[in-house]
Amino acid sequence: MSDSENEVHDAGFDDWLAAAEEGDAYYLECANGHGSLPPRRVCPDCGSTDLAEADLPETGEIQTFTVTHVPTPAFEDDAPYATAVVDFGSVRLTGQVVGIDPEAVETGLSVELEITVSETTGERVIGLRPA
Ligand SMILES: [Zn+2]
Repeated sequence: MSDSENEVHDAGFDDWLAAAEEGDAYYLECANGHGSLPPRRVCPDCGSTDLAEADLPETGEIQTFTVTHVPTPAFEDDAPYATAVVDFGSVRLTGQVVGIDPEAVETGLSVELEITVSETTGERVIGLRPA
């Protein structure tokens, strides 16, 4: 963890991605049951700073999605692809849908978290694979 000074601003999220890659995805839950994700340290709903780690559910459900045919430079080698917002119960994750034709993605589809590496940037990104 000493060679990442340039990424200090999102180090908490990098740690989360690393944990998720190992199959240990979690979310932060306050005493009122609101979910959020690192690097947050304050509940976005009620302002509580008493956040505990809870296991992320195995699967979530696609709430909304968009299919990108002309990607941003960071993902130019990955197009076309679908980006989806997935409801994991207490938290929502936004990621790239993998392992399925982007045109076949639909609302309500059950997906599981799969951390993937961008073909373009080599960085870890949130992947969502149909469960
Ligand atoms: Zn809260």
